[in-house]
Amino acid sequence: MATHVIVGGGLAGAKAAETLRAEGFDGRVVLIAAEAELPYERPPLSKGYLLGSAEREKARVHDAGWYEEHDVELRAGVRATGLDAAGHTVALDTGEELGYDRLLLATGSSARRLTLPGADLDGVRYLRTLPDSDRLLADLAGGGRRVVVVGGGWIGLEVGAAARGYGNEVTVVEPQPTPLHAALGAEMGEVFAGLHREHGVDVRTGTGVRELRGAGGRVTSVLVDGDAEVPADLVVVGIGAVPNTELAEAAGLEVDRGIVTDAALRTSAPDVFAAGDVASSFHPLYGRHVRVEHWANALNGGPAAARSMLGQAVSYDRVPYFFTDQYDLGMEYSGLGGPDDAVVCRGDVGAREFIAFWLSEGRVVAGMNVNVWDVTDPIQALIRSGAQVPVERLTDPAVPLEDLAG
Ligand code: ADP
Repeated sequence: MATHVIVGGGLAGAKAAETLRAEGFDGRVVLIAAEAELPYERPPLSKGYLLGSAEREKARVHDAGWYEEHDVELRAGVRATGLDAAGHTVALDTGEELGYDRLLLATGSSARRLTLPGADLDGVRYLRTLPDSDRLLADLAGGGRRVVVVGGGWIGLEVGAAARGYGNEVTVVEPQPTPLHAALGAEMGEVFAGLHREHGVDVRTGTGVRELRGAGGRVTSVLVDGDAEVPADLVVVGIGAVPNTELAEAAGLEVDRGIVTDAALRTSAPDVFAAGDVASSFHPLYGRHVRVEHWANALNGGPAAARSMLGQAVSYDRVPYFFTDQYDLGMEYSGLGGPDDAVVCRGDVGAREFIAFWLSEGRVVAGMNVNVWDVTDPIQALIRSGAQVPVERLTDPAVPLEDLAG
């Protein structure tokens, strides 16, 4: 009987296990999950669950009974510590050695840590895991705290919005000229800066953090560039994520800011696959390797890897997609734009009801719909088409989105 082992109990891993069974694999499926929790999805951790509008259990990928029902051996709280790719074995921190026929590495990423004086003080938090979200919710829900958010990225802004919603004072400190600068560029970054300022957040851009100060082991303030000291009862750090590539690196797999795979999600080692945040996969649409840290990539990449593990022909070419909710702004983003790409919009940017398109060499490489819904299909079709579209047509709301691709 064949044994397929999945290392990583996040969304990509759990979805891969589901797909192995859905596709009829009747061998052994072992899911190694370092966290003691049942596999869960992360969007609620900084959105619905943190806002108090979604139950904790709703974050689970499957309910507790599902694993047994589908004969998936979930080893929660167990960590893989070594991989022998030639010998087809994985070592576990329980001392066991597990042989595999096919292996999926879906080890995800970890919050990048702040390395500054005071970074280890109590009251300095990260948001990556469900227990992190539990603690943050407990801290924020009472309101009345001074919260300093380090990093104006997706996590920082969603936490900032949740914190404001509970009536906390919030300061966001971001070294770039705008929040979300690397992801969206200056113009769209300003839209988010404006949104947060309107909701009473002190958004300090172009400002680095120098030091965290404390008393009695607890953080009390954040020293920022220009020697300003911002009082803080709580500091939430959201400065990006680092792929968990240690296992792959130690095993001699090709790693280049992620575990390198082809479009079938195969790594450089035979019978070893990678998916989700940790994988840097060749993307047929972009013609290069991309590593995508968003939810949809775990949701779709895990199943794609499972099919590949079963020997099916796979070319994983999804247009990257993610979404955010902050206050009354909801948005979806499709594609891969850069801060240097030109941005054009249709709709009312001031009213925050619009679609933005990122253009590279005249082609739409990304689109973002803000408070406009049911448009991701045509936006993704447009990106996929590679069509050269005149800017007047992109920005003219009278031209149906469906007509833009050709
Ligand atoms: P996350 O998923 O943690 O939100 P993002 O990549 O979306 O990650 O955003 C990280 C943000 O943190 C970026 O806006 C980046 O400019 C900012 N940042 C990176 N390093 C630091 C730092 N040392 N101090 C403050 N902000 C930082």
